[in-house]
Amino acid sequence: MLACLFSHLFFSGLQTTDGSPLKTRRLDNFFRTVESKKSGEIKVDLWKALLIPFLLWTLLVTLSLVWNFTYINSNTIELAKDRGNSFFRQIELTRLWNAQHGGVYVPVTEKTQPNPYLNDPSRDIVTSEGIHLTKINPAYMTRQIAEISNQQNDILVHLTSLDPIRPENYPDSWEEAALKSFEKGVREKIELVKQDSVHFFRYMAPLTMQESCMQCHHESGVQVGATRGGISISLPSQKMLAAQTKNKKNLFILHLVVYLFGTACLLFFHSYASFHYTALVQSQKKAALAYRDALTGIANRRQFEETLALEWRRAKRINAPISMIMIDIDHFKNFNDTYGHQAGDECLKKVAAVLNNTVTRPGDLVARYGGEEFAVILTTGNRGALLLAQKMRLKISKLQIHHELTESDRHITISLGVATQYPASESSPAELIEEADKALYRAKNEGRNKTRYRGRELYMS
Ligand code: GH3
Ligand code: MG
Ligand code: MG
Repeated sequence: MLACLFSHLFFSGLQTTDGSPLKTRRLDNFFRTVESKKSGEIKVDLWKALLIPFLLWTLLVTLSLVWNFTYINSNTIELAKDRGNSFFRQIELTRLWNAQHGGVYVPVTEKTQPNPYLNDPSRDIVTSEGIHLTKINPAYMTRQIAEISNQQNDILVHLTSLDPIRPENYPDSWEEAALKSFEKGVREKIELVKQDSVHFFRYMAPLTMQESCMQCHHESGVQVGATRGGISISLPSQKMLAAQTKNKKNLFILHLVVYLFGTACLLFFHSYASFHYTALVQSQKKAALAYRDALTGIANRRQFEETLALEWRRAKRINAPISMIMIDIDHFKNFNDTYGHQAGDECLKKVAAVLNNTVTRPGDLVARYGGEEFAVILTTGNRGALLLAQKMRLKISKLQIHHELTESDRHITISLGVATQYPASESSPAELIEEADKALYRAKNEGRNKTRYRGRELYMS
């Protein structure tokens, strides 16, 4: 799942790009591409890009492990509770059977002596054959079952009450807390406890007063249905804990394998994607260069023509005006001849930068049209275009690039021709260029350092 997310992060940008650098900006930020100044080589910061998916993957695997461990722990406790409860139910059933018979008579033996806590005149009887029998009530029977269980199963059973008749039936602190909780409505208790450095699952459930118990316990004051004590059962935990540890170990190994496999996949996807991304960025850089003018760094003629075709169609679709400014540096040949070709290049760069910075709207474009000529595409009407042309003319003038031979104030100036059209089916972008060119020609003829407009009418926008 993470690998999918990861590859989506990479490839969504890569596959949808059509050469536009804008679309890969998100990826650029993500990768924090570092470009080596010396070689121009593009390097991708592999580890930074890998960090988020890697942390997410680690978190996911850790959460899964913690959840599974918690589940195993609670499963072991549930299992112990189930065992304790079965044992308890068995004893409870046997006690009920005994109580329903009002106790049962068994021969008196060395181990089965008459119960001194049983206050019953017919507790001890002798059969016609002379056999001495004594009555075993549920409590005595439970005690005897507990002794057998302790010897045979390692399962400790203790009949207890907060107010026992027999002192040995007093609860220990754990049992006392459980008995008190039963009085508040708790139905059973299970806990893993450590006793003499051995772990036990201690289970306890309450004994409720039955009708049949009243024969012996009528003086206790406990009503039928109320809690009158409980049976606590201590179950050995070694086997269950060993199974739990084994399950956890297997689960850990499984998670480790999945984690390592996932991490390997991440690394594979990352290096695969970064390889393609680097190639893409490099080819985009090359493609972008094809649209830049090498000297000035602004858009070249190619980009100008493509943008004009695009904006023309857009303006036609929405019935909006489109404007063009053709710009020519005045007496530039003389500038070259006087100050040299290199100074001419520097001048071109400065003029281009100023013109480019004057245009701020997204659809507009300043391009080097050729030589010392520039062309501006504006998605606006002639009013906006004329204002912008005027602004450009003043800004270039303010540059104060010294030029002795100009008619004006001995610095570089530009002449501008502005044209505006509402694209119609019978017109074409070439017409707009031609109109702007004619306006420029007029600006030159009328003394240079001027802005002239040519259009069918003056549109306001
Ligand atoms: P006008 O005011 O009528 O435009 O006169 P102009 O001298 O500017 O016009 P012309 O077309 O005669 O001269 C254009 C000059 O621009 C010719 C060339 O030396 C110069 N030029 C064109 N491209 C470059 C370039 O890339 N670098 C330099 N330094 N000069 C260039
Ligand atoms: Mg020219
Ligand atoms: Mg010129």
